[in-house]
Amino acid sequence: MRIRYKLALLFTLIVAGLLTLFSYVIYEDSSHHRDEIFLGRLENKARTTARYLIDVEEINNELLRIIDQNSLTSLDSELVLVFDPGNKLVYSSVDDKPVKYSRKLIAEVREEKIVEYTDGLYDQIGLAFPSKINSSKGEYVVLASAYDRFGKDKLRNLRNTLIICWVVGVSLTVLASGWLSAYFLRPVATINEKIQLITAQNLKERLSEGNGRDEIAQLAINFNQMLNRLDMSFEQQKSFVSHASHELRTPLTAMKTDIQSGLEETLSAEEYRDILRDLFQDTQRLIGLTNGLLQLARPLDKVLKRNTLSVVDLLLDIQSHMSSAQKPNSIRFDPAIFDLKPQDVQVTGNESLLKTLLTNLMDNACKYSDGRPVDISIERQQSDCCIHVADQGIGIAPKDQERIFGAFFRGNNAIRYSGYGIGLAVSQRIAEWHEGSISVQSNLHQGSTFTLRLPLA
Ligand code: ADP
Repeated sequence: MRIRYKLALLFTLIVAGLLTLFSYVIYEDSSHHRDEIFLGRLENKARTTARYLIDVEEINNELLRIIDQNSLTSLDSELVLVFDPGNKLVYSSVDDKPVKYSRKLIAEVREEKIVEYTDGLYDQIGLAFPSKINSSKGEYVVLASAYDRFGKDKLRNLRNTLIICWVVGVSLTVLASGWLSAYFLRPVATINEKIQLITAQNLKERLSEGNGRDEIAQLAINFNQMLNRLDMSFEQQKSFVSHASHELRTPLTAMKTDIQSGLEETLSAEEYRDILRDLFQDTQRLIGLTNGLLQLARPLDKVLKRNTLSVVDLLLDIQSHMSSAQKPNSIRFDPAIFDLKPQDVQVTGNESLLKTLLTNLMDNACKYSDGRPVDISIERQQSDCCIHVADQGIGIAPKDQERIFGAFFRGNNAIRYSGYGIGLAVSQRIAEWHEGSISVQSNLHQGSTFTLRLPLA
């Protein structure tokens, strides 16, 4: 069932329930009130009649009947019966038809002294009544019954009014709740329709954010933010593909030109060797590029092995590896100065990925500082470990410092150095996979410090 209908139904059920409860309470209270008033009147009537009959000697049955029938307080279909202590009927307010009464009831009245009950249409009361003049004579019993036309009419009228109010109230609630739920959920329907129209081709479309305050507006705002992110990553993807094809095409075009000139012209052995050298360099570049692309495209699987690794050992390992690769720079790293033992700084991660990342940072530091020394330092910061790679090289222009982590971006001052602009993008992915981050602080012509922050194990 749609939420709109569910809301309307629920609201209607609640209102109908409340109306029923209130109607019931009002009706029951009125009915109880009527009973009390009418039985009170009936009791007065019974007492007056009995007092006249039993305590006033001058009054006989005939006179009392006349008084009863003509008094202002006479009730509708009124019947008063008086029984003497021997249960003999000594007075009946009607003389023209036989009256029925129950002996059991008379016995009950003698026992209880007062009995009230309703016999379908009629309200009845029974009273035990001692004679004032001669109390030794025993108790008389008065049974009085009457029909409360006025009270019952009023009650019937009240019941009908309540039923009509209930029906009208519930009908109005159905209409109002249907309209209200449609009104409040209309923006959701609009959002739904709009979402269906958004495809990869029109990712620039945005939802209306309404008043910007309520929950539905918040939903639209969040959805728009998600579209922004999707759009951005779509754009990044597109520019990545165009950059990648451009980077691949450049060495391929150079190779094609070399091969063409080798085929079309008759060249000396030395010239052929030059061509082969160029071809070798371009092939090297292509291999480097495709390796970088592979690293970027490869999903960093959650199931890749993670171990607890000592950062000091990792850095010493890379340092010795790079020194043996005969880098002109000296990589200065001495754990003793930081007063750290290998077990002091441990992280959880994949050894080969972390080596790739740190080697990238150190390679760049060596490459962009023309043989000047590179300093590695580590420090613990609360629950993180920070590894700083500082060089005294060409530095990075402030406007480029954010962009160098994007694939294929190369600073203007870096063009004369070999590279593809992929290393930092790969490094950042690896850092994020380890729930860490890379940041840079740099001054042009003075040097850069790259900081890798990783959570401690
Ligand atoms: P590559 O070094 O192959 O160009 P990277 O992704 O490793 O690719 O680096 C991207 C860019 O960041 C470089 O082209 C360069 O402009 C800048 N960069 C990275 N490291 C340094 C550094 N240590 N000093 C100066 N610039 C750097």
